[in-house]
Amino acid sequence: MNADLARRVAELRGTVARLHGELTRYGLVAWTSGNVSARVPGQDLMVIKPSGVDYADLTADTIVVCDLDGNVVDGEGAPSSDTAAHAYVYRAMPQVGGVVHTHSGYATAWAARGEAIPCWLTAQADEFGGEIPIGPFALIGGDDIGKGIVTVLSGHRSPAVLMRNHGVFTIGRDARAAVKAAVMCEDVARTAHLARALGEPAPIAPADIDALHDRYQNVYGQRPATGTARFESA
Ligand SMILES: [Zn+2]
Repeated sequence: MNADLARRVAELRGTVARLHGELTRYGLVAWTSGNVSARVPGQDLMVIKPSGVDYADLTADTIVVCDLDGNVVDGEGAPSSDTAAHAYVYRAMPQVGGVVHTHSGYATAWAARGEAIPCWLTAQADEFGGEIPIGPFALIGGDDIGKGIVTVLSGHRSPAVLMRNHGVFTIGRDARAAVKAAVMCEDVARTAHLARALGEPAPIAPADIDALHDRYQNVYGQRPATGTARFESA
């Protein structure tokens, strides 16, 4: 690894260590579950959380560097047990620069029922462009989880998928965008749950969902765009 690449990898390790703090800040994870990874831009490398390490102990040095087959390239500990799924996504979706996994409560409750979250909220139309889809039931260890994520999210506007009976996987142009999608996924899952508990939520017309999504992804916020789904051309 030349000096420039080593410096960029060290920076990315620090960024990914810090981004894990957002998972605890927003209450998306329990104990050591959940993980954030980032692709090293222009390299067949990724950085990811180590397996079984407390969130409070995550520092740049504990973050593991792997190749895109999940083999450790640099780092002290074993990488996350979800490394194979993250690596599969990076291999199959070159536009993706960050992947996040959580078992956040409300979103995972929808996953436990095998039910996609219908688009009842303008914030969901903004961020997800429609429903948040359900992925297949898949056991950890091989490529099944990664395959399920890629199959559902390829060509889908949503940067989040609810893997059946398991939890949330999100993608983004970078790790921060994937973390934002995980935070927003739990937020809309909670509100959708409350809305349905109170009665029958009102649908949003598909044309209005399209208009909201387009405005949010192309017009909203500071330049350059920081939306999570707007990375197809990146
Ligand atoms: Zn999991």
